Amino acid sequence: MFQCTLCEREVCYVSKFCVKCKKIKHYLNLYEDRVYEVLDNVLSRTQTKQDNKIQQEIKEEIENKKQNLQPLKK
Ligand SMILES: [Zn+2]
Repeated sequence: MFQCTLCEREVCYVSKFCVKCKKIKHYLNLYEDRVYEVLDNVLSRTQTKQDNKIQQEIKEEIENKKQNLQPLKK
């Protein structure tokens, strides 16, 4: 049996990473160091403060994405 290289808990046969960690790898490819920043900023807090921080962290990005999704004005 093979263990996931990242979490070392899940079993995986085909890839080095389990399904959940593959997702993390995907985020790392997309967002690079931003992933570490968000994890550091969010996980170093208590549960309630984490929720607040998550809201703050993603609020700006969601707004930016919304703006990018708006059709271009002529
Ligand atoms: Zn894993």
